[in-house]
Amino acid sequence: MQQVNLIQMFPGYDIKQNQALSAYTNTRVGGPADWIFWPKKLAELKDVVRYAHDQTIPVTVLGNASNLIIGDNGLSGLVIFLTNLTDITLDTHTVTAGAGAAIIDVTQVAAEHSLTGLEWAAGIPGSVGGAVFMNAGAYGGQVAESLVSADVLTPTGEIKTYTNAELDFGYRHSTVQATGEIILSATFALAPDEQTAIVARMEDFNTRRASKQPLEYPSCGSVFKRPEGYFAGKLIMDSDLQGYQVGGAQVSTKHAGFIVNKGDATGSDYVAVIQHVQATVQAKFDVALEPEVRILGK
Ligand SMILES: Cc1cc2nc3c(=O)[nH]c(=O)nc-3n(C[C@H](O)[C@H](O)[C@H](O)COP(=O)(O)OP(=O)(O)OC[C@H]3O[C@@H](n4cnc5c(N)ncnc54)[C@H](O)[C@@H]3O)c2cc1C
Repeated sequence: MQQVNLIQMFPGYDIKQNQALSAYTNTRVGGPADWIFWPKKLAELKDVVRYAHDQTIPVTVLGNASNLIIGDNGLSGLVIFLTNLTDITLDTHTVTAGAGAAIIDVTQVAAEHSLTGLEWAAGIPGSVGGAVFMNAGAYGGQVAESLVSADVLTPTGEIKTYTNAELDFGYRHSTVQATGEIILSATFALAPDEQTAIVARMEDFNTRRASKQPLEYPSCGSVFKRPEGYFAGKLIMDSDLQGYQVGGAQVSTKHAGFIVNKGDATGSDYVAVIQHVQATVQAKFDVALEPEVRILGK
């Protein structure tokens, strides 16, 4: 990968070489990426994606890196952060947001315009692209309920628009998880409501989050999917795993579904805790816990 020099290839583009990803992830863990690129506009993104495709350079697109554990050896190839693609536009009751916009900012714009439908996302620290990719959800709401369509960039540089049905949303699932396409923007259909009621719901959800979640530590949110008929956090709590720690990664003592970084965790620490939790819960309750977080790299 080092024989290709993306910085020389694309002068003026915001590209860095051999950067530690831990500086950008919510867990504060993750080894280096060969290249990191922050496109300032769509044309830059298209140029680099096409080039990477032609040169068979692996591409990983990240949003706010709030649902990730990246291995200590990092990611080979090119990592793209869409954090500059943050336009949010409103058309009557419809909001369109760039993939790099924080979903929290979208909920705030919706509330400012007295539009309901996204309150559940008021405290989710992800980007619009990450939320669509994951079909993020909370407090009974999820992306699938209000998303109308999403624009994506294919690995060959073509733009496509997918409808809600085409994204085949399921629990923490969308088709983009299998296609390698890059989500560029998403459009949500909302409905008018009393602004005070919308803001009250957002505040209520955020108060509940702050009281139950260990927001004072770096983490990747709930680590495991909800197994059919159970709650992952309850199974972990009932397995006496709260406080279980490997290196700097610890099963939160405040919310058993979270694994927090107590200061110096590595990706390997996180993976070791996850495997121990899975094995313990399997042995005690015969339930297989499947990670909700994406574990990338080695
Ligand atoms: C404190 C805390 C609380 C959380 N609470 C919730 C919650 O209530 N509900 C919930 O669902 N999640 C929650 N999460 C998890 C996380 O915030 C969400 O899953 C969020 O939607 C991930 O967005 P992101 O931009 O951070 O994605 P990332 O973590 O950056 O990426 C996640 C995956 O999406 C892919 N991806 C990201 N952007 C794109 C794009 N533009 N195109 C293609 N692929 C892309 C990445 O490659 C990766 O595989 C929480 C996390 C934390 C730390």
